[in-house]
Amino acid sequence: MNPFFTPYTLTPFHLIHNAHIAPAVHQGIAEQMAEIEAIVANPDAPTFENTILALEESGALLDKVTTVMYNLLSAHTNDELEALAQELSPVLSEHSSNIMLNEGLYLRVKAVMEAGADHLDAEERMLLEKTYEGFERAGANLPADKKERFREIKKDLSQLTLQFSQNNLKETNDFILHLTAEEDLAGLPESQREQAAIAARERELEGWVFTLHAPSYVPFMQYAERRDLRQKMYEAYNTKCTHDNEHNNFEIVARLVNLRRELAQLLGYSTYAEYALKRRMAETPETVNALLAQLIEAYKPTAQREVAEVFALAPHEPQPWDFAYYAHKLQKQRYDIDAEMLRPYFELSRVKQGVFGLATRLYGITFVENKEIPVYHEDVTAYDVFDADGSPLAVLYTDFHPRASKQGGAWMTSYREQAAGERPHVSIVMNFSKPTDDKPALLTHGELETFLHEFGHALHGMFANTRFKSLSGTNVYWDFVELPSQFMENYAVEKEFLRTFASHYETGEEIPDELVERIIASRNYNAAYACMRQVSFGLLDMAYYTLTEPFTADVRTFERQAWLEAQMLPPFAPACMTVQFGHIMSGGYSAGYYSYKWAEVLDADAFAYFKEQGIFNPEVATSFRKNILERGGTQHPKQLYRNFRGKDATIDALLTRTGL
Ligand SMILES: [Zn+2]
Repeated sequence: MNPFFTPYTLTPFHLIHNAHIAPAVHQGIAEQMAEIEAIVANPDAPTFENTILALEESGALLDKVTTVMYNLLSAHTNDELEALAQELSPVLSEHSSNIMLNEGLYLRVKAVMEAGADHLDAEERMLLEKTYEGFERAGANLPADKKERFREIKKDLSQLTLQFSQNNLKETNDFILHLTAEEDLAGLPESQREQAAIAARERELEGWVFTLHAPSYVPFMQYAERRDLRQKMYEAYNTKCTHDNEHNNFEIVARLVNLRRELAQLLGYSTYAEYALKRRMAETPETVNALLAQLIEAYKPTAQREVAEVFALAPHEPQPWDFAYYAHKLQKQRYDIDAEMLRPYFELSRVKQGVFGLATRLYGITFVENKEIPVYHEDVTAYDVFDADGSPLAVLYTDFHPRASKQGGAWMTSYREQAAGERPHVSIVMNFSKPTDDKPALLTHGELETFLHEFGHALHGMFANTRFKSLSGTNVYWDFVELPSQFMENYAVEKEFLRTFASHYETGEEIPDELVERIIASRNYNAAYACMRQVSFGLLDMAYYTLTEPFTADVRTFERQAWLEAQMLPPFAPACMTVQFGHIMSGGYSAGYYSYKWAEVLDADAFAYFKEQGIFNPEVATSFRKNILERGGTQHPKQLYRNFRGKDATIDALLTRTGL
């Protein structure tokens, strides 16, 4: 029995095996093609219901199986699943082209569009427009020969992006720093030594193992006194996918950039950025570049001062592998604070209570663990989430710790998206420090922020209250999607919030006020540097995707030129960010990296409003929920934001928050 062929509400992870996926994908494709053919063959004149809505509701089986496949590829993969994905990805891409380039279907959609939308409500109009533009942007308007080329480009892109991220994960996993002498660990805190000892044992090695995964790499670069070892780690990290082996991404980068440009030009745009930004809140490359320039102007002088102050501590010519180390030392000197000191107050189960409790306080929603809900790994916990009136709101899965089968980083995703009559199933996946033999999972302040961030995305998903899946939850413009998540991060430095859960995991002592004050004071430490780093990534992204001519340059040279104005650290010649920059190469942020900063402008502005009215103010929270979180992409984000705030956001609140 293939579980995908039986109707289900909760994803039956306990029944799903790799062998079920390919048959369900093929069956799903066949079913959707039959549905599409029925729409096209309908003798009745095209209407919203018989065309737009019918298309929106087609492909249920395919949606079910691909949702599971792609989510597991990120959260719990294996070699067989990866091979399967490689094999199925061109098939799936072909299928989506078959729909989007279906002449009969396009003509019907166009006919509905041209008939006018007067009789439709606002959500229906939005779905109609989005569907029509989707066809246009997928090349439905192109003459036959260009359509064929368009189809090839899409297929190549989907294969190459997958290859790009698999190479990145393999290179991340392939490197370990194996240490056997205790003196090599100088400077590293106990918690890191324990994690490294566990990592060694998992590999049946003596001593300690450090990896390029963030929970191991980041603290190593901050604490390790052995400069040569920091250099070794830094080099390994920053040269991933540049080596002369089968995981090299140089050629893939050039092909991805060129294919995206060609695709945009086929559709009549001069650059990929122009094409991408048409469907974003920022609307044009000029607006994005103006924001980046505005940020450089506001932050660069402060960032230069910050870097000089950090490197003043280094007794030698500073190198990039020294920055995190001395930055951390200086932070400790100034604020006598570091991530380790806070860990005892951020025990994961308490943090979870705190974060869930915040949602209860703001929105009245509650979380009840449900062990009956199947999960895909024993580390995953599932919750029933109830609305203030007790009605079911969503299912939430949490998956906190790293493992070899999981991609790095943190993300929110859905196993079932909200639509009329269907509540969503949302998952948050992270890579937080694991419990050790004698300690529970103790988070850093940064990990608390990450938790709040992904939880903000989860709220966007869980509160979704729209009619159509394609307009629901996080299905919004890319540069608007980080507002709900970054908004939540603001709470990480609010005393009144921290006091609700942050107590010592051994003594139960509440987090001391003066420690919280030091966290707040230190929050803006190197904030300008951090901003410039984000801006540099934004510049790099825009440089690739505003090209009007084929990309033929050397990737490293191009990269160095592109972000020069925002580069604050001495360059390290062999390093290359582009080849491991999944966001802009394989992750959907192409010509979209700026959106983190764009959303920061919005989240600072929105939180400033909460600060005025009280950070737990239920009326303001309700307005945020009703006007933004529930609405998904049913209106232009500019309008949604105005409905909540009563005006447009300005950069002022962000500058104030970062101490400028
Ligand atoms: Zn996010």
